[in-house]
Amino acid sequence: MKAFTYTRAQAVTHAAELKRDGARLIAGGTNLLDLMKLEVETPETIVDINRLGLNTIEANEGGLRIGALVTNSACAADRRIANDYPVLARAILAGATFQLRNKATTGGNLCQRTRCFYFYNRDQPCNKRQPGSGCSALGGFNRLHAILGASEKCIATYPGDMAVALSALDAGVEVSGPDGALRTIAVRDFHRLPGDRPQEDTVLAAGDVITAVLLPRPLGGTQIYRKVRDRSSYAFALVSIACVIAMDNGRIANASLAFGGLAHKPWHDPRVNDLLRGQEPGDSLFDQVADTLLADAQGCGRNDFKVPMTRRVLKSVLRQATGDAA
Ligand code: SF4
Repeated sequence: MKAFTYTRAQAVTHAAELKRDGARLIAGGTNLLDLMKLEVETPETIVDINRLGLNTIEANEGGLRIGALVTNSACAADRRIANDYPVLARAILAGATFQLRNKATTGGNLCQRTRCFYFYNRDQPCNKRQPGSGCSALGGFNRLHAILGASEKCIATYPGDMAVALSALDAGVEVSGPDGALRTIAVRDFHRLPGDRPQEDTVLAAGDVITAVLLPRPLGGTQIYRKVRDRSSYAFALVSIACVIAMDNGRIANASLAFGGLAHKPWHDPRVNDLLRGQEPGDSLFDQVADTLLADAQGCGRNDFKVPMTRRVLKSVLRQATGDAA
């Protein structure tokens, strides 16, 4: 690890100012410290933001405001979240381990970086780590990689679970700019597709600091988070689905789905929700939804299996959520 300067932020605007000048913010450090040990990231200054007081969950306009420093464990255990947003609690608990969830924070979880093997291996070309060097995953070991929204520059996936549920819930990310002005970015717009700038994971500007996640009013309905992975804990998703569906008189009154493990960002396709809404559940409808979702899906070799797997998992989740025979 390269030597760095450690400093503690006195206020959100102080953190923003230092970040704008190139410092990296640290809260739980569950991803950043790994990246620093491997010298994938070599910040000259890291700024501890743990004492900024952003660690409460408060009622907010019918929903909840989750402070950026609320740990994943505290978030999943919160009675309001467990009762009213169970898809979020389940997604968080499907990620990492007890120890990591006790340290990882809401804001940090959103900003975690891909777990593409080549990104962490400085001996291999990687456009995300070193723009213009190439993408080793394209012809390499790409079992975990994207089938939707990838580019010829990068086929990495966003690794998190929490943000997939937040996308299904249509949550917002509250961000403070360098002058302290707050604005909200929809979670669905927060992460980027790689395009020709895979080094940029999110739309955050240099002087932006995440202050909270904003949950809208509870959606109710049946809420499911299904994660398919290589082992039953401490593994990233091959495919995950956050699903919120409300039924009315045998028809789907409302549906909101998001997908993990498929793309450089939590994948949300509004056509999926539109196709489901107002319809009677059944296999032909579910096939139509899968056809739409996967129309542009493209494997790159070792991850080809994700296309049929996503179809199977999607149909199974939809059967469960609509009360059809599983
Ligand atoms: Fe790097 Fe992206 Fe290619 Fe992985 S997929 S090697 S992160 S450019």
